[in-house]
Amino acid sequence: MDFNDTAEEAAFRAEARAWLEANAPKAPLSGKSEAELLVLAKAWQAKKAAARYACITWPEKLGGRGGTPIQQVIFSQEEAKVGAPRGFFDIGLGMCIPTVMAFADDATKARFVGPAVRGEEIWCQLFSEPAAGSDVAGLRTKAERDGDEWVINGQKVWTSGAHYCDFGIVLVRTNPDTAKHKGLTMFWIDMKAKGVTVKPIHQMSGGSNFNEVYFEDVRVKDSQRLGEPGQGWQVALVTLMNERLAVGGATGPNYGELLDVARATPAGEGSALEDQAFREHLADWYVQAEGLKLTRFRSITALSRGQTPGPEASIGKIVSANQLQAMSHEALDVLDQFGLISDPAVAPLEAAFQQSVLWSAGLRIAGGTDEILKNIISERVLGLPGEIRVDKDLAFKDLPTGR
Ligand SMILES: Cc1cc2nc3c(=O)[nH]c(=O)nc-3n(C[C@H](O)[C@H](O)[C@H](O)COP(=O)(O)OP(=O)(O)OC[C@H]3O[C@@H](n4cnc5c(N)ncnc54)[C@H](O)[C@@H]3O)c2cc1C
Repeated sequence: MDFNDTAEEAAFRAEARAWLEANAPKAPLSGKSEAELLVLAKAWQAKKAAARYACITWPEKLGGRGGTPIQQVIFSQEEAKVGAPRGFFDIGLGMCIPTVMAFADDATKARFVGPAVRGEEIWCQLFSEPAAGSDVAGLRTKAERDGDEWVINGQKVWTSGAHYCDFGIVLVRTNPDTAKHKGLTMFWIDMKAKGVTVKPIHQMSGGSNFNEVYFEDVRVKDSQRLGEPGQGWQVALVTLMNERLAVGGATGPNYGELLDVARATPAGEGSALEDQAFREHLADWYVQAEGLKLTRFRSITALSRGQTPGPEASIGKIVSANQLQAMSHEALDVLDQFGLISDPAVAPLEAAFQQSVLWSAGLRIAGGTDEILKNIISERVLGLPGEIRVDKDLAFKDLPTGR
């Protein structure tokens, strides 16, 4: 197997690298507030869009480059090396706008796609509710038709970025008289509309990345509907397929950085690297990291050949999120009393391991929990019998939780 770039890919990589070296922001990002990072991220997104490096695979008329998926992978790999501000646009451009492009009318696409690509407007995804996460089709937020409008009431939760987002896609129940998957409808919504209240959730990391969102008699026009009434589940699947691809692997400190920390940390006569129990864990993570790397290469090879990657994204997410969590805890053990220091100015690697201890548990839940992804792999990849779904054919209103 040859994992090297083809001549064409190497030429694109060189071009992307040269552009990034000349244009990427040079100022360090650590220590900046979310508001400051947002300003920098919007400016960076606008710059990429002007040079046709934002949304590389999208058609040129929609602000993309008309490029290939492998070019997008190459650009993202190179962009990750320059430390540019990231994260604010992943949900909007990775999941919401592809859904809008698939289901909205031409006028809606013309209004929203360009500003999203240029980073002028940000989108969020409003699916999960207090009683509907893994089983999102069990959601209760409802929309009732009133002439040419719909009136939405209910609550969403864990909505990443809702506090700075301009628009969102919201999945609601429009028909409780049919089976739970069949009574759903998707709308796009203005996050500043009357009746929408966003309440940030304070996280143990000190940040507030996600929110509760309440809807009280929020009026949306029928023209804001994405797909037919009752077709919301099919529309949501388009969003969720893009989510699994986007969430893909864990971002955070890696095996090599753990090795550096252990090498630099004194223990007994030498360094933490000489501890037998630690070395055994390291060997396991090395094997996992190599497995993940080769699995990722398999996806990239599929993209390079113009194919769609298979279930590797789910496997990659389960392994990498669990590995990140275990490695981060081990790193804090290795650092002993210094592991308690979370001030980025003085902690090793700007406290990357301290932050990922707090973040990695959420990564095992976001975009499908470990158990849900294992169900998907067992049913769709290994062909094992499906989970028993007793509520599949019952009307939503007749479910014990349906009222
Ligand atoms: C960092 C982060 C960001 C998020 N961002 C968003 C967002 O922007 N928009 C949004 O809509 N949502 C978002 N979510 C919510 C996320 O999609 C849900 O948390 C997730 O789907 C799990 O749902 P839940 O929290 O309700 O847990 P539950 O579904 O209640 O699961 C509880 C436990 O039961 C297990 N379980 C559930 N069903 C099964 C089953 N059938 N078989 C075996 N085990 C099962 C789960 O694995 C889990 O361990 C985010 C979550 C996180 C952590």
